[in-house]
Amino acid sequence: MLQALQEAEAAAARGEVPVGAVLVSVSGEVLARSGNAVEALADPTAHAEVLVLRAAARRQGTPRLAPCVLYVTLEPCAMCAAAISLARVTRVVFGAYDPKGGAVEHGPRFFTQPTCLHAPEVIGGVEERRASALLKAFFDPKRGPSLERAGWSPKKSQRHKGPLAENACLPVTSGVPGGPSSSVGRASDL
Ligand SMILES: [Zn+2]
Repeated sequence: MLQALQEAEAAAARGEVPVGAVLVSVSGEVLARSGNAVEALADPTAHAEVLVLRAAARRQGTPRLAPCVLYVTLEPCAMCAAAISLARVTRVVFGAYDPKGGAVEHGPRFFTQPTCLHAPEVIGGVEERRASALLKAFFDPKRGPSLERAGWSPKKSQRHKGPLAENACLPVTSGVPGGPSSSVGRASDL
């Protein structure tokens, strides 16, 4: 997990969301390690987990990686949970819980679904405080100023009266009589 945290710190330094992952064989050999690279690769699927699974699969010459252990600093999302299942990872050890985007202990709880054909053993909350601190440090300074620039206000009364709230609706409805539902119908007619 310490190596995964190092990858998360390196990702933050590159301007990526600080999540790191390390895939280890049962004998303790590091098969692959990576941080998020969504921005660098302009790839919305370039989460740390996906990158290490791809790298290890290429290296091993097989898409099925068991037996192995995946260490990741944040609870995996639905996409990564599916990739972990497909790769037949034996055990997942993650750091911070993610109530918003997580799909292991939150949301779809992917590994408990009857459609999940391979469920790894899961251990959550390992080095949780350190992994959470990295994410908080990354998001706090950026989110505050950027939302202020956009006219966001934490007060509900101001948020609904503000210029952002009024203008934000315009791109959705302008030029599309009847709103988004009619644009769906129009697209299917093409
Ligand atoms: Zn993910």
